[in-house]
Amino acid sequence: MIANELTRWYKLNKRELPFRMNKDPYSVWVSEIMAQQTRIETMVPYYLRWMAKFPDIQTCANADETEILKAWEGLGYYRRARMLWNGAKMIVNEYHGIFPSDYATIREIPGIGDYTAAAILSIAFNQPVPAVDGNVLRVVSRVLMSSSDIAKDSTKKHITNVLNEWMVGAEPSDFTQGLMELGALVCKVSAPDCQQCPIRHHCLSFQHGVQKDFPVKSLHKKPKSESYVVHLVVDNDFLLISKDWSDGLMEGYLRLPQVRENDDRFVISESLFSFKHVFSHKIWLLSVVKSRFTDGVELSDDYSWLPISEIDSVAWISAHRKILLKTLKKSDFSSL
Ligand code: SF4
Repeated sequence: MIANELTRWYKLNKRELPFRMNKDPYSVWVSEIMAQQTRIETMVPYYLRWMAKFPDIQTCANADETEILKAWEGLGYYRRARMLWNGAKMIVNEYHGIFPSDYATIREIPGIGDYTAAAILSIAFNQPVPAVDGNVLRVVSRVLMSSSDIAKDSTKKHITNVLNEWMVGAEPSDFTQGLMELGALVCKVSAPDCQQCPIRHHCLSFQHGVQKDFPVKSLHKKPKSESYVVHLVVDNDFLLISKDWSDGLMEGYLRLPQVRENDDRFVISESLFSFKHVFSHKIWLLSVVKSRFTDGVELSDDYSWLPISEIDSVAWISAHRKILLKTLKKSDFSSL
């Protein structure tokens, strides 16, 4: 049986990761949210810091937004942090701080989709609910030699049904984690290590030598590039900052003024450097300049002044944090 071979392999080969030390649903939840779009090696230090600061749902719910955003700073996709915080508040307010253990209720928690709900239920509550993410879709598509497009909901549904059958009689927690671990360590995207794979005797694409042809996935659109000028405006010991979140990105995180070219509110005195910041759906092409505010122009409500001494204690969007780090390293910031 696939499940037996997989769980046996998992017990012998799993990585010792901090969030595997216990099966508390809050820890599983935090680790799953952090691991979305982030490599495990990158998220582990964040996970450890987060758990040291907010060790349980209550502490997380009681934190203020600035603490939450600061703890997430640098991890990207900041909406996840706010969702986690809102979810913790919901669990405290509506469920007395006790993590619910049924699918429908868990799905109502902010930021928890089908995959995360299933991962929490199977890993923390040991319920046989298949968690289907990109790794799992790849492994199962290869085993079945399935040509169905994994970007389609119908494929996900079919693979969920297959996993429901595979899970019968298995330990759900080890099965789910085993499949995830197999996808991460053995059945990798470009170089599946089939000789090390515990389920190779069940794998049709291995038997036909066509592992790399699967899974089949329709291409998604190229991210759009947008050009902006980022202004470093310093007046005495204060830095001009922006709280304009009208583009919907990383609300709550401070920004430097970032505007389109030829914005006559700013007078540029020097060009500093340019760089590219890549999101999953768009690319920012940023020109960083030293500027001052044009005489007589009033600051809009989105702008304010931050003492330079506080730069490090507030949470920044990551592109602008990089600019500040680079600028601070290059020169005495106050001389800008
Ligand atoms: S045999 Fe190879 S392709 Fe098949 S599941 Fe294992 S690692 Fe993936």
